[in-house]
Amino acid sequence: MNTSPSITRRNLLLASTAALLPSCTPTREYSPDLAAHPSEIKDYPPNLKITRIQSFNLPLKRPKFIGRNSQRNNHGDHTVEYMVRIHTNAGIDGLGFSKAPRENWTKLIGKNPFHFYQQQKNGFVSPIGTHTMALWDLAGKALNKPVYQLLGGKGTKLVPVYDGSIYFSEMVPLYAQQGLDRFKVEIDQGRAAGHRAFKIKIGRGYKWMEKNAGYQMDLAVLKTIRRHAGPKIKLGVDANNGYDLEQTKRLLNDIPDFNFEFMEEMFPESIKQYRELKVFMTERNHKTLIADGESRQRPDDLKPFIDAKAIDIFQGDMRNFGFEGILTEAQLCKAAGLRVAPHNWGSLFGFYMQLHVGRAINNFYMAEHDPLTSDLLIADGYNIKDGKCTVPDAPGFGLTLDETRFSNILKPIFDLQI
Ligand SMILES: [Mg+2]
Repeated sequence: MNTSPSITRRNLLLASTAALLPSCTPTREYSPDLAAHPSEIKDYPPNLKITRIQSFNLPLKRPKFIGRNSQRNNHGDHTVEYMVRIHTNAGIDGLGFSKAPRENWTKLIGKNPFHFYQQQKNGFVSPIGTHTMALWDLAGKALNKPVYQLLGGKGTKLVPVYDGSIYFSEMVPLYAQQGLDRFKVEIDQGRAAGHRAFKIKIGRGYKWMEKNAGYQMDLAVLKTIRRHAGPKIKLGVDANNGYDLEQTKRLLNDIPDFNFEFMEEMFPESIKQYRELKVFMTERNHKTLIADGESRQRPDDLKPFIDAKAIDIFQGDMRNFGFEGILTEAQLCKAAGLRVAPHNWGSLFGFYMQLHVGRAINNFYMAEHDPLTSDLLIADGYNIKDGKCTVPDAPGFGLTLDETRFSNILKPIFDLQI
């Protein structure tokens, strides 16, 4: 094809898209045809009714103690998932993460969940906001489809994942004696769990150490991990905004052959600074992707960065944005040739949510895995191998609770009944 240097693939895409759009369409609009939309749902059970809603905290464990990042103190070896379970008159139930308060859920009692579904809004619009995971689970079970199919079903069969659990382990008293060898142990643990990509926290000099000493420790950790992991393992970094632009350039200069897969939150999002970083990377032939956006509250907050293509990988938070917000973000990104990788730390159900998004959309990057488990949960069909995760075809999410232990152990926070 004869293309002048000024005609990029992006321009060609926009030109061909514009030809399909009505002339009154603003240039910022994207073509829905380019992006995954959730399914149109017409044939749902007309008499389905929510009869009971239970909220509870599900205890979760990690296989290791997770230390600090540049901003926050220890993350520990356990947490809880805020859960909701919805029962219906049809004998099916929906299970999912939710932090929506009791008074909001009360407004769904006695209602048909499908009455809240709006395809053009990418999902459920109801008093519970974006905490709709249990509604999607219920919808999947009612329609006998996995959630990823309801979400659009345009993603890959196996979903790329990465281990996001490499924190400042040398500062954890439990592991301090191991020194830098601790990182080799953790990489080996991640590899044994099926991972082939890792995210490494950096930014020790932001608040925990003197700035240059912290930077030198970051360098030592990165060199240790790359040497141990070998060249084929994908390694990204996340500074939790603990670096600045100059320090980021210094890092790229100091270990030019590290081959950073991505750099996340090196400093607070700035179109100007990210553009400068991109020029710097291009000049030095770095293929590193810029990832950011986890602290933004809504897809609209990311639009300026999407328009400017200042970020390559957009990381709206999985649970905060919900499926509805992540699909909207993905549609905006898709039109600009960009990808999404929802932020997800401290949540097991957020991991399952990401996997269904990964199977639903065709501009998904990787799912972030916080290695949490629950022995009260049966999650058949989700298996990580060679850096990718399978997703079951069971209706909904295919996640079930151990019923006996559930009723004996878990105390409801609220229990609403019709
Ligand atoms: Mg992050």
